[in-house]
Amino acid sequence: MIEGPSWGLWLITKVSQSIFLPSVKEGQFVLNFPMSMTGLTRGVAGVPKLTEGAKIGSTFAPMTKVYLKRKISRRVENGHPWIFGNEIDKVEGDTEGGSIVDVFTHDKKWMGRGYINLQSQISVRLLTRDKNETIDDNFFYNRLLAAWEYRQRIGYVENCRLVFGEADYMPALIIDKFNDYFVLQTLALGMDRWKPAIVAALEKIFQPKGIYERNDVPVRELEGLPQQKGFLSAPFDTQIIINENGLRLHVDIENGQKTGYFLDQHDNRRAIQHIVKGADVLGAFTYTGSFETHAGFYGAKSVLGLDISENAVAQARRNAGLNGLSGVCRYEAVNAFDALKQWSKEGRQYDVVMLDPPAFTKSRETIQKAITGYKEINLRGMKLVKKGGFLVTSSCTNLVQPDMFLDTIQLAAKDARRRLRQVTFQAQASDHPIIGGWENTNYLKFLIVQVL
Ligand code: SAH
Repeated sequence: MIEGPSWGLWLITKVSQSIFLPSVKEGQFVLNFPMSMTGLTRGVAGVPKLTEGAKIGSTFAPMTKVYLKRKISRRVENGHPWIFGNEIDKVEGDTEGGSIVDVFTHDKKWMGRGYINLQSQISVRLLTRDKNETIDDNFFYNRLLAAWEYRQRIGYVENCRLVFGEADYMPALIIDKFNDYFVLQTLALGMDRWKPAIVAALEKIFQPKGIYERNDVPVRELEGLPQQKGFLSAPFDTQIIINENGLRLHVDIENGQKTGYFLDQHDNRRAIQHIVKGADVLGAFTYTGSFETHAGFYGAKSVLGLDISENAVAQARRNAGLNGLSGVCRYEAVNAFDALKQWSKEGRQYDVVMLDPPAFTKSRETIQKAITGYKEINLRGMKLVKKGGFLVTSSCTNLVQPDMFLDTIQLAAKDARRRLRQVTFQAQASDHPIIGGWENTNYLKFLIVQVL
C-alpha cells in the first residue's frame, strides 16, 4: 500500500505511476480535472489508499476479495446484486468505500464483481457476474448503451427512465430522459464515483441539451454521501415542457419532486381514457396534475385535484392552462387524508375517484401501518364513488406486494359494503423493468375497479 500524503501530491503520484483511477481513461491528463471530476466525491475524510498491482485499462482486476458466508439469502442466489453486511464472512484487502471488489462464495468460487461500502447496510452491490468484464469507463458506456437499446426496442424513446438501477445492472443509478434533457441520481457511494464516466457516456450517446443531478435525497446519507443537486452540463433552463400521450406538461427539473416527474405512471395515465369521459372526477395526491390533465383531455366534465404541496398545485394549474383545460381542471392545496375523510362523511359523490399517494413506508417494521393507511384511504375513496363509478388507485410502496395490495382493497370494499369489478391491474411502465424474483423491482401497483 502507498499512502498519499496530501490530495495534490497523491494525484501527481497517481499520474506518474499510472495507478487505477476509476473515471480516468489511459492517456487522459488527470490534473486537468477538478476535484469533483476525479471520482473522489467522498469528500476529504481519510487519506486515499492506492492498491498495489491495480492499473488503468482492461487488465485491471480488483485486489480486494469478499467471501460470503455459507448461508446467504435466496436473493443473492436469484442473481440480485445486493449483498448485506451480515452475509459477508470476511474481506481480504483494501476496503476503501466505493472501490471495486471481487465476491466469492464460501467455498471460494468467483461469484461477481461490484463496489463495496462497509458503512452501508448493503455492503456490496454487484455490477457484473461475468468474470471477464472489467469495471471501467467503457463498462458504463456499454451498460448505458444497452439500456438505451432496450428502451428503443420496447418503444420508450422520447421520455423514459433510461436507467432503472438494479434492473439495468447498474445498482443505485437512476437516469430519467426528458427528451433532450437528462436527470441523474447516484444513490450509493460506489456508483457516485463513476458519475464523470456516466456523464461522458450520456454526452457521447445523446449529445443532450442538458444533464442535471438530483442527488438531494436522504438515502444518500446512509452511504456517507452529501445531498446535492446541480448541473452536470452547461447550465440550462430547468423548466421544460414534455409531451406525454398527446398532452404537454411542465416539468421542473430543479425543484420538482424526485427527478421532476413521475414517468412510472406514463402508461397507466392512458388507462383512464374511457372511464373519465363525461365524468365528474376527483383526484387526490395529484402532484402536478398529470392524471387530472389526462382526465380533462379525455373528456371529463369536471376534475378536482388535491395535493398538499402549493408548488405542485401551482404547476398543476399551469398544466391545465397549457392544454386549454383551465375551465375543466381545478386544484386545491389541502391535506387529502382530511378531505377524503370529511367529504366521504358529507356524502359527496363522484363518477371517478383517483388516488396516487406517496410511499407509506420503506421499512418492513411498519408494513402493517402502511396497509392500514391504504385500507383507510381506499375505503374513503370508494365511498365517494357513485354506484357504478370507478376507483383508480395506486401504491408505490415496494414492500407492499401486489397480492397484499389487492387483498387490502378487498378488505376496504367489505367495510364500505361495496362490490368491486376489476377493470385493470397493472405495474409501472415497462421502461422501469421488472426482473423475475427481484421483489423490489416490481414496486408500482395500479388498479382500476368499478365500484358496484
Ligand atoms: N399522481 C402524481 C404523483 C403523486 S406523488 C403523478 O402521476 O405525477 C404523491 C403526491 O402526494 C405528492 O405530490 C405529494 O405532494 C402528495 N402528498 C403527500 N402527502 C399528502 C397529503 N397528506 N395530502 C395531499 N397530498 C399529499
